[in-house]
Amino acid sequence: MPKVVITDGIQPAGLDVLAQRSDIEIDYCRDRTSDAELIDRVVNADAILVGATPITDSIIDAAKVLKVVSRRGVGYDKIDLAALRRRKIPLTIVGSANASTVAEHTLFFMLALAKQAIAYDRATRTGNWRFRESLLAMDLLGKTLLLVGFGRIGRAVSVRAAAFGMRVMVYDPLIPEAAFGEFPVEPIKDLLPGLAICDFLSVHVPLKPETTGLIGAKAFAVMKPTAFVISTARGGVIDEDELVNALRMGLIRGAGLDVFKEEPLSPDHPLASLDNVMLSPHTAALTVECAQRMDAVAAQNCLDAIDGKLDSALVVPND
Ligand code: NAD
Repeated sequence: MPKVVITDGIQPAGLDVLAQRSDIEIDYCRDRTSDAELIDRVVNADAILVGATPITDSIIDAAKVLKVVSRRGVGYDKIDLAALRRRKIPLTIVGSANASTVAEHTLFFMLALAKQAIAYDRATRTGNWRFRESLLAMDLLGKTLLLVGFGRIGRAVSVRAAAFGMRVMVYDPLIPEAAFGEFPVEPIKDLLPGLAICDFLSVHVPLKPETTGLIGAKAFAVMKPTAFVISTARGGVIDEDELVNALRMGLIRGAGLDVFKEEPLSPDHPLASLDNVMLSPHTAALTVECAQRMDAVAAQNCLDAIDGKLDSALVVPND
């Protein structure tokens, strides 16, 4: 009987998809497993349905009949893609299942930062009513948003930001000009001029060698001191040390961050003690609805691979 190994827990919607098939064995690792335990469990696995657990070369090599690694998300920087390629095993993602949810989280950061959500809440609770006279809050209307990366999530952010009356610029040199056509955006060819004029910067690129540290000292040096930086992409795309420096020096006004170079973020990390930063624990896609959607798609990808009818749009292409 084909076997699906599930790591990191799964939502009922995902389990339901698998449970409809009496010809599939489910091996459910509810808690984080060690590499050694996972290696034992995947030996006869046809599919690995993976959340945040890194899938290493040794795990892939141990899985002798593996037909797919199905990621419950769209980022795959913790999966050894080269090892999968060597074995000609496809890696699937969940496509657009989380794009609107991550886009909402991006807008949540933008609004909370612009409207001073944390400072105003704190002032109200502590009786500092006159804080309302500080006029720290600002409108989104008329402000410029620079999106770096214009795939599923970047596009979903663009239409939502445009609905707030923002000017949306986009830097994504890897997609054809025609891809911008139907969206309310202005594509730019060079990053630095865009950085120099934006009021909000939001990154939506995968973490890979070319995007590691894409936003660093050079970027912060040209940005407006009133600008906000947002990342729901991956820790490492924004150079964290340089970001801390920029926030401390007032080179930018603030940041909203969902992802970090090392997760979980240590409470001792300098970011955790800065007042001009809003943080979330890598939860941009973790709403009730989105978790169900992602897990249902990821479970279906396992079955489709076993049945030999994978949706090619959900298979990570060769670079
Ligand atoms: P996507 O593949 O649809 O889009 C990525 C875009 O980045 C593509 O258009 C690509 O051309 C562009 N890009 C790649 N390299 C670039 C570069 N050097 N400069 C500018 N643009 C570049 O992916 P997506 O679904 O939009 O997701 C984007 C990223 O968001 C994912 O890779 C993932 O790491 C992250 N993500 C995070 C969460 C979360 O929970 N915080 C959830 C979903 C996705």
